[in-house]
Amino acid sequence: MPGKRSKRNKVQHFYCPYCEHRLWRLGSPKHFLFYLGAAEIKQNVGMSSKSAALLAARGDYLDNNSWIEDFFCRDHGKLWMKITRKDGGKLVSAMATSIDWRQTTRTIMPHSPNPSVSEFTYRMSRQSGVRYYEK
Ligand SMILES: [Zn+2]
Repeated sequence: MPGKRSKRNKVQHFYCPYCEHRLWRLGSPKHFLFYLGAAEIKQNVGMSSKSAALLAARGDYLDNNSWIEDFFCRDHGKLWMKITRKDGGKLVSAMATSIDWRQTTRTIMPHSPNPSVSEFTYRMSRQSGVRYYEK
Protein backbone atom coordinates (compact mmCIF):
# COMPACT_ATOMS: atom_id res chain seq x y z
CA MET A 1 0.00 0.00 0.00
CA PRO A 2 2.20 2.86 -1.22
CA GLY A 3 -0.32 5.56 -0.29
CA LYS A 4 -0.43 4.52 3.32
CA ARG A 5 3.33 4.24 3.47
CA SER A 6 3.99 7.76 2.23
CA LYS A 7 1.55 9.20 4.74
CA ARG A 8 3.22 7.32 7.55
CA ASN A 9 6.65 8.59 6.51
CA LYS A 10 5.63 12.22 6.57
CA VAL A 11 8.45 13.65 8.66
CA GLN A 12 8.05 16.84 10.56
CA HIS A 13 11.14 18.83 11.38
CA PHE A 14 11.87 20.67 14.59
CA TYR A 15 14.05 23.69 15.04
CA CYS A 16 16.34 24.91 17.78
CA PRO A 17 14.70 27.60 19.95
CA TYR A 18 18.06 29.43 20.21
CA CYS A 19 19.45 29.45 16.66
CA GLU A 20 16.58 28.04 14.55
CA HIS A 21 18.79 25.39 13.01
CA ARG A 22 17.19 22.08 12.39
CA LEU A 23 17.15 19.73 15.36
CA TRP A 24 18.00 16.07 14.95
CA ARG A 25 16.04 13.38 16.67
CA LEU A 26 18.22 11.17 18.82
CA GLY A 27 15.67 8.40 19.05
CA SER A 28 15.49 8.68 22.81
CA PRO A 29 12.55 7.18 24.64
CA LYS A 30 9.56 9.48 24.76
CA HIS A 31 8.73 10.65 28.25
CA PHE A 32 4.98 11.02 28.14
CA LEU A 33 3.26 13.49 30.37
CA PHE A 34 0.52 12.55 32.72
CA TYR A 35 -1.68 14.55 34.97
CA LEU A 36 -3.04 14.15 38.45
CA GLY A 37 -6.44 15.49 39.37
CA ALA A 38 -9.12 17.29 37.41
CA ALA A 39 -7.41 20.69 37.52
CA GLU A 40 -4.22 19.48 35.82
CA ILE A 41 -6.17 17.53 33.21
CA LYS A 42 -8.39 20.49 32.41
CA GLN A 43 -5.47 22.88 32.14
CA ASN A 44 -3.28 20.67 29.95
CA VAL A 45 -5.73 18.83 27.77
CA GLY A 46 -8.22 21.65 27.35
CA MET A 47 -11.45 19.87 28.12
CA SER A 48 -14.47 20.77 30.19
CA SER A 49 -14.35 20.57 33.98
CA LYS A 50 -16.92 17.80 33.88
CA SER A 51 -14.92 15.61 31.48
CA ALA A 52 -11.75 16.30 33.43
CA ALA A 53 -13.42 15.30 36.68
CA LEU A 54 -14.64 12.06 35.11
CA LEU A 55 -11.13 11.22 33.90
CA ALA A 56 -9.56 12.17 37.22
CA ALA A 57 -11.92 9.82 39.03
CA ARG A 58 -10.40 6.94 37.06
CA GLY A 59 -6.89 7.80 38.21
CA ASP A 60 -3.90 9.42 36.57
CA TYR A 61 -4.45 10.67 33.05
CA LEU A 62 -1.72 9.79 30.59
CA ASP A 63 -1.45 12.34 27.80
CA ASN A 64 -0.59 10.43 24.62
CA ASN A 65 -0.20 13.71 22.76
CA SER A 66 2.50 15.32 24.92
CA TRP A 67 5.94 14.01 25.59
CA ILE A 68 9.53 15.07 26.20
CA GLU A 69 12.13 13.84 23.77
CA ASP A 70 15.88 14.28 23.34
CA PHE A 71 17.00 16.36 20.34
CA PHE A 72 20.35 17.55 19.09
CA CYS A 73 21.34 20.97 17.74
CA ARG A 74 24.69 21.24 16.00
CA ASP A 75 25.41 24.46 17.92
CA HIS A 76 23.68 23.89 21.22
CA GLY A 77 24.10 20.17 21.78
CA LYS A 78 21.43 18.07 23.36
CA LEU A 79 18.09 19.70 24.03
CA TRP A 80 15.08 18.26 25.75
CA MET A 81 12.02 19.35 23.83
CA LYS A 82 8.42 18.98 24.82
CA ILE A 83 6.42 17.81 21.82
CA THR A 84 2.68 18.29 21.69
CA ARG A 85 0.47 16.77 19.03
CA LYS A 86 -2.27 19.21 18.11
CA ASP A 87 -5.59 18.47 16.46
CA GLY A 88 -4.94 17.23 12.94
CA GLY A 89 -1.64 15.61 13.89
CA LYS A 90 0.62 18.67 13.69
CA LEU A 91 3.46 18.52 16.19
CA VAL A 92 4.51 21.59 18.13
CA SER A 93 7.80 21.77 19.99
CA ALA A 94 8.92 23.86 22.95
CA MET A 95 11.76 23.69 25.43
CA ALA A 96 10.87 21.28 28.21
CA THR A 97 10.60 22.98 31.58
CA SER A 98 11.09 21.48 35.02
CA ILE A 99 7.30 21.60 35.36
CA ASP A 100 6.96 19.48 32.24
CA TRP A 101 9.45 17.02 33.68
CA ARG A 102 7.51 16.77 36.88
CA GLN A 103 4.52 15.77 34.78
CA THR A 104 6.26 12.91 33.05
CA THR A 105 6.78 9.83 35.14
CA ARG A 106 7.30 12.10 38.14
CA THR A 107 11.00 11.81 37.57
CA ILE A 108 13.35 14.75 37.73
CA MET A 109 15.23 16.51 34.99
CA PRO A 110 18.20 14.34 33.97
CA HIS A 111 20.70 17.16 34.29
CA SER A 112 19.60 18.26 37.77
CA PRO A 113 20.64 15.51 40.15
CA ASN A 114 18.44 14.32 42.95
CA PRO A 115 19.06 16.83 45.80
CA SER A 116 19.10 14.16 48.50
CA VAL A 117 21.75 12.21 46.60
CA SER A 118 24.01 15.20 46.08
CA GLU A 119 23.57 16.19 49.71
CA PHE A 120 24.63 12.72 50.73
CA THR A 121 27.66 12.82 48.47
CA TYR A 122 28.54 16.24 49.80
CA ARG A 123 28.38 15.00 53.38
CA MET A 124 30.46 11.94 52.56
CA SER A 125 33.12 14.01 50.87
CA ARG A 126 33.16 16.40 53.81
CA GLN A 127 33.55 13.53 56.23
CA SER A 128 36.44 12.03 54.35
CA GLY A 129 37.92 15.49 54.06
CA VAL A 130 37.74 15.95 57.83
CA ARG A 131 39.32 12.59 58.47
CA TYR A 132 42.12 13.40 56.13
CA TYR A 133 42.64 16.73 57.87
CA GLU A 134 42.86 15.12 61.33
CA LYS A 135 45.59 12.67 60.36
ZN1 LIG B 1 20.83 25.77 18.35
